[in-house]
Amino acid sequence: MTTDDPTARLAGVLADIEHAKKLAGRTDAVELIAVSKTHPADAIEPLIAAGQRVFGENRVQEAQGKWPALRERHPDIRLALIGQLQSNKAADAVALFDEIHSLDRPSLVSALAKAMESGRRPNCFVQVNIGDEAQKGGCAIADLPALLAEVRAADLPIAGLMAIPPADVEPAPYFALLAKLARDHGLTGLSMGMSSDYPTAVTLGATHVRVGSALFGARV
Ligand SMILES: *Cc1c(COP(=O)(O)O)cnc(C)c1O
Repeated sequence: MTTDDPTARLAGVLADIEHAKKLAGRTDAVELIAVSKTHPADAIEPLIAAGQRVFGENRVQEAQGKWPALRERHPDIRLALIGQLQSNKAADAVALFDEIHSLDRPSLVSALAKAMESGRRPNCFVQVNIGDEAQKGGCAIADLPALLAEVRAADLPIAGLMAIPPADVEPAPYFALLAKLARDHGLTGLSMGMSSDYPTAVTLGATHVRVGSALFGARV
């Protein structure tokens, strides 16, 4: 998208999502998470004014600095944590976020379970290292059944699976694989698709897309 107007960018992304849903014959909802990492409050406000209500951040500390004041003005905002979470930040994350998309290891299951004794229970997505890349976050596909068993034993609210496909290759096979893994494990939520590939992700069943630069412009 080339427009400088955030309202037009948002309308464009929403139209792309609707078009992809139509292609796939879908009538269910797709949640657009506007990824606002690195962008200051004055870049976020225009999207809120245009009607966007769900935002994503990848660092707990950055979100803690930015969102409490914004939320005071807009109490109906929902926040998603999309980046790696350290166990010692689990309590802060549970206090601030409504969704956590980066649950990827057993130590985090116990840290989140403990943090949720507070009564706040953000929906969790288990992140899968779908391309089996050494440098990427997410649990190995082979470890997914055991991790999901731990998540269920700890009674965490589990919404579905999340993945980031390898860069610079066709993402569709990875989206299809994530959808199959979710189906195999009886999960309905699929957090997949970013600025470069969200229409493809929606045609393959994404229920949550995480879109940053297509809404905000390039990160600085
Ligand atoms: C930054 C980020 C996004 C958004 O990326 P864009 O390419 O700017 O849309 C999505 N998901 C995760 C996990 C991210 O870190």
